[in-house]
Amino acid sequence: MDVAIPMKGRMIHPTTGAPQSQIYDPIRGQCINSISRPILNQRLLESLPEEIDTVFDVKLAKIDWKTRTAYGLVKRQKPKQKLPGQEDDDGKVGGGSRGEGSRDAGRDEIETQFDLIVGCDGSWSKVRSEMMRADR
Ligand SMILES: Cc1cc2nc3c(=O)[nH]c(=O)nc-3n(C[C@H](O)[C@H](O)[C@H](O)COP(=O)(O)OP(=O)(O)OC[C@H]3O[C@@H](n4cnc5c(N)ncnc54)[C@H](O)[C@@H]3O)c2cc1C
Repeated sequence: MDVAIPMKGRMIHPTTGAPQSQIYDPIRGQCINSISRPILNQRLLESLPEEIDTVFDVKLAKIDWKTRTAYGLVKRQKPKQKLPGQEDDDGKVGGGSRGEGSRDAGRDEIETQFDLIVGCDGSWSKVRSEMMRADR
């Protein structure tokens, strides 16, 4: 609450005429509390116990519920921009990579064991779809 901004109402911008302020709760003066996403993210990360490791840029791809293994895809670092005819470190010149164009092209697969998995991956949750695929 120390970083929240109380929002007491909203501004309506009609197509014609002057903007109108609408108070959410003119009787009791209640409001919604607004917090910026970066601050919220920072506070959530800061509140984690030290023994928790945080890993970013891994996309959950598959869950094996029997072996309690989660498979993820890690984005590869983009290679440095090359001039025409210039060689890569591995000697390749120009051209596209295999699998280019597919959604998961340029990603490496990693796996990890888990005791508990929390599906907080949004409205198109992969955890949820993997749970729906599993035998009951
Ligand atoms: C345009 C817009 C404006 C909004 N404005 C407001 C607002 O002003 N105030 C408000 O309160 N709410 C607002 N909302 C709603 C709010 O954003 C959502 O209710 C809230 O973010 C849901 O939180 P969540 O943690 O469930 O999911 P999310 O915030 O969607 O978080 C899910 C996370 O999981 C990650 N993820 C997804 N799939 C995978 C995968 N396969 N592997 C690994 N990670 C994955 C995503 O990258 C993301 O970081 C808005 C929503 C939208 C779309």
